[in-house]
Amino acid sequence: MLELKRCKICGKEIGNVYDTDYFALISKQYCSECKKLTDRQNSRIRSKRYRDKKRRELEQAKKTAENLQDEVTELRMQIQMLRNMVN
Ligand SMILES: [Zn+2]
Repeated sequence: MLELKRCKICGKEIGNVYDTDYFALISKQYCSECKKLTDRQNSRIRSKRYRDKKRRELEQAKKTAENLQDEVTELRMQIQMLRNMVN
């Protein structure tokens, strides 16, 4: 069993089993500086994913609107055709 725990990124000692709450320590992987960096990176990734998702949703909505517009045009032509048949 390891007595010292080191940051996975920079290797800085982040605690040992004697002076730190053991369960807090096993979930800890980075020193506070590296944690700040990885948190920032994670939030960058999250917001990029969010933007990508929104962009895809917008593209989908535009496509749906175009399809509906085509359908409206088609139906108008059919109505016109039927009117011509009745007259
Ligand atoms: Zn570190």
